[in-house]
Amino acid sequence: MRRLTPWMLATALVAPSVAHADPFRPSMADQVKLGQDEAAKIARTEPLLKDNDPRVIELRAIGDRLVANIPPALMRDKPWKFQFNIIDKNEINAFALPGGPIYFYSGLLNKMKTKDEVAGVLGHEIVHIVNQHWASQYADNMKRRMGLLIVLNIIRAGDTVFDIASVGDALYSLGYSRRHEEESDRIGYDIMVAAGYNPVGMAETFELLASQGNGGAPEFLRTHPDSKRRADNIRKRIAEDSRRLPARQARDARALAAGGTTLPKDGERIPPARRGG
Ligand SMILES: [Zn+2]
Repeated sequence: MRRLTPWMLATALVAPSVAHADPFRPSMADQVKLGQDEAAKIARTEPLLKDNDPRVIELRAIGDRLVANIPPALMRDKPWKFQFNIIDKNEINAFALPGGPIYFYSGLLNKMKTKDEVAGVLGHEIVHIVNQHWASQYADNMKRRMGLLIVLNIIRAGDTVFDIASVGDALYSLGYSRRHEEESDRIGYDIMVAAGYNPVGMAETFELLASQGNGGAPEFLRTHPDSKRRADNIRKRIAEDSRRLPARQARDARALAAGGTTLPKDGERIPPARRGG
């Protein structure tokens, strides 16, 4: 269903690159097209919450604020088309498509009580897009496959067929390298703070994921391993951060109500930030 069409493979194999040095690496325009095509498919096949749903309004407001605070050097002359949507399914997951579309599952969103937690996930996913992590993974994967093909050809003298169909899952199955994940956490943290969100929200999200470990790892956890270690890294960085960190913000009441999420009861108020809040 969610298939990467063979044109990407053909492009990578046939077209010698003019715009970018690595012929296996999808161009920025390719990434946008791929992401937009897949987003159209998701709109047809998945239960997306409507534009006027309070949760969608809130998510987009947070997303737009983050996008406005991406370091300008990362955004100069870039074609990214950021879009924020919610798939109404009880899954603990969120993901980004190449070129800009970002999806939250309502199952994950409904567990969040602060905008900072939401911003933690969005900031992280935004960095996957602007730093083109998917394209890097795709190129590395292609090169490994090509290397394997060459080896197999030497051994079996032409008895191999390059399996285009097996590339089809690349859009969702590649996963990101540990380096990419750390980069997304690090830069996502800075974008959050610049946009006025408290990075404790990012740590809390990874702690939430770590706590979900029993009874089947949620999707986001499978593609984002080491949640506990990453939460610890973020908390360590907060402790060492000399900046005045923004106060934490509760989510909009209407959005919480729409998702059936209850506000913290008296006595479990959102604790103030270590600094500045
Ligand atoms: Zn990630």
